[in-house]
Amino acid sequence: MSENPKLDADAFYAQQEREHNEMLDQIEVEREEQEWFDANEDYPTEPEWEAQPCQHEGCTAMGNPCWLPEFDKPEGHGDEPDMWYCDAHMHGSGFCRGCGTFWGGIESFDFGSGFCEHCESEFDDDFDDEYYDDFDY
Ligand SMILES: [Zn+2]
Ligand SMILES: [Zn+2]
Repeated sequence: MSENPKLDADAFYAQQEREHNEMLDQIEVEREEQEWFDANEDYPTEPEWEAQPCQHEGCTAMGNPCWLPEFDKPEGHGDEPDMWYCDAHMHGSGFCRGCGTFWGGIESFDFGSGFCEHCESEFDDDFDDEYYDDFDY
């Protein structure tokens, strides 16, 4: 039995209070982290696949995921990218530099900007907006 039970009780409650505050701080930190993840849902911090180097012979740049058409996919390949090419080699290998979809053999793509119709139409939308903003009617 302590000689000063009052002091012990104070110390006990002070300790309780500290632990309680630490717990509240921890909850606050977790809540902020969760809010950040919710707000950044569209931007996963981890890539979905481990990035692979460009498959172009002799190229050491990191590749972007490239996708073969559904019917060309090797059996059991799942959702993994089919090929990996860097920005410089995507177009030459037949893949859109925007979305990584295979468009090789289509004349308008092979001789175009390196972006497929879909990606180009998105650029056009952006371009139009900017164009009209600057334009004085
Ligand atoms: Zn390359
Ligand atoms: Zn594209």
